[in-house]
Amino acid sequence: MTVTRFAPSPTGYIHVGNLRTALMNFLIARKAGGEFILRIDDTDPERSKEEYVDAIKEDLEWLGLTWDRVERQSLRLERYEAAAEELRKMGRFYEVFETPTELDLKRKKQLNMGNPPVYDRAGLKLSDAEKDALRAERGGYWRFLLDQERIEWADGIIGDMSIDAASVSDPVLIRADGQVLYTLASVVDDTEMGVTHVVRGADHVTNTATQIQIIQALGGTVPSFAHHSLLTGPQGEALSKRLGTLSLRDLRAQGVEPMALLSLMARLGSSEPMELQTEMATLIEGFDIGQFGTAPTKFDVADLFPLTAKYLHAQPLDAVADEIAALGVPAEQADAFWNVVRENIETRADLAGWWTLLSEGAEPVIDAEDTAFVAEAMALLPEGELTSDSWGAWTAAVKEATGRKGRGLFMPLRKALTGMSHGPDMSALLPLLQVIKARG
Ligand code: GLU
Repeated sequence: MTVTRFAPSPTGYIHVGNLRTALMNFLIARKAGGEFILRIDDTDPERSKEEYVDAIKEDLEWLGLTWDRVERQSLRLERYEAAAEELRKMGRFYEVFETPTELDLKRKKQLNMGNPPVYDRAGLKLSDAEKDALRAERGGYWRFLLDQERIEWADGIIGDMSIDAASVSDPVLIRADGQVLYTLASVVDDTEMGVTHVVRGADHVTNTATQIQIIQALGGTVPSFAHHSLLTGPQGEALSKRLGTLSLRDLRAQGVEPMALLSLMARLGSSEPMELQTEMATLIEGFDIGQFGTAPTKFDVADLFPLTAKYLHAQPLDAVADEIAALGVPAEQADAFWNVVRENIETRADLAGWWTLLSEGAEPVIDAEDTAFVAEAMALLPEGELTSDSWGAWTAAVKEATGRKGRGLFMPLRKALTGMSHGPDMSALLPLLQVIKARG
């Protein structure tokens, strides 16, 4: 069975960058009829916050990215300890003592001599007595001993990958304070939870190389890996600085519709055209990880608004009935109201402005040269209840009386009644104005 996971660290809100990771893993699992795990990577007790765990769930639920189960790394610490013990026993785990400053110095020396800044494995050469002394003085932490061979995998996006393990430092898996680091915890989880496909950002490529060796050392099955390119801003600039404003909750607050966001994210960076999907099932059906390229992917938040508008235009009343009722639109007018304004909103929040206009009337906009014309026209407004025929009948009468026609006839009336030079079909709008506004 296909098993994927989305593994956020609860140290912040989900933003457009990690949404892409979540979505791809979700779509792969759902398309295959498999399982999608929400894994909370909370081994860092200082930075992990419960409020972010709740926020992550809330954001995924808003998008309809439902998970089959939740796993929490903080509840699995003994599993990681057991794996560490196994690695220790097989001689693949060794204790080291360098401080960050010492490591930095080593790196600088290596670079000065034109060598790659790879950890020199000095810890391996320490005697037991030296280790005891260093441990007492500053505490030790643990690295995994990489086999210095080429690490290869067929990446679902990048293609054939080959990384020389000798060019990579032995990864630190346990810190001096005993905290298990992501690299080990993730491997133990992926192996024990039967994860078959891992999609994550291209910034994890080196991790993948080391994780493959750790999985093999622990006797696990290596999942299929795919690394998607990272998102940039519209000009190719790094998104990281703006991520705070591109969190899912910000986008939600700005009125972005889930399916608009998902449709864009499921195709951005893919060779397939972006199409707005209004149903999750269609998005799942059309997803193909093999269509994604490795070039950095440009993301422009502005693209989400035309998509949101398009999504809303296609919605039946049911999809907006609650918001419309909350505005105070009488139930019997809800359908007519929605039909009149649906093509003229970008987000749901715009409904309120239209209701204010219809219920309270707009501040008329009347150009100086139209003052007499508008006054004459208003006097001709049909008595009684207005219907969808009223606009036609009224403008015909006004034309007859004033001799105006075309734009010169319609536009001043539209501006006088709505305060705007664009908007819904006037013959549909007029009856709503009439029903709502008490006429003197
Ligand atoms: N917690 C890790 C992260 O957010 C998970 C990476 C992975 O998918 O393995 O970067």
